[in-house]
Amino acid sequence: MRNNKDSSPHISRRVALTRTAIALGVAAAGATVTDASAQQKITPAAAKYQDQPKGQQSCAVCVNFQPPNACKFVQGTISPSGWCLLFAPKT
Ligand code: SF4
Repeated sequence: MRNNKDSSPHISRRVALTRTAIALGVAAAGATVTDASAQQKITPAAAKYQDQPKGQQSCAVCVNFQPPNACKFVQGTISPSGWCLLFAPKT
């Protein structure tokens, strides 16, 4: 048998405060994860990085390229002649 205390339309002040605290905690934890992930780069292998261009696509013409040899999203030394799955052309 299920206890339906929380489904009552009249929740106690304690329950309301507890729910608010949990919601704020989850929101704060989410913000922390987002901040951390925004600063992390993925590995070249995860991005399927290669040292050669793919057709007309290369790091030199990718919006994520950071001259002379870095990328906003991929770790390590990035060749201007390279390419990966995250390629996005400069406009
Ligand atoms: S193609 Fe990939 S590795 Fe190269 S700059 Fe763009 S996102 Fe970075």
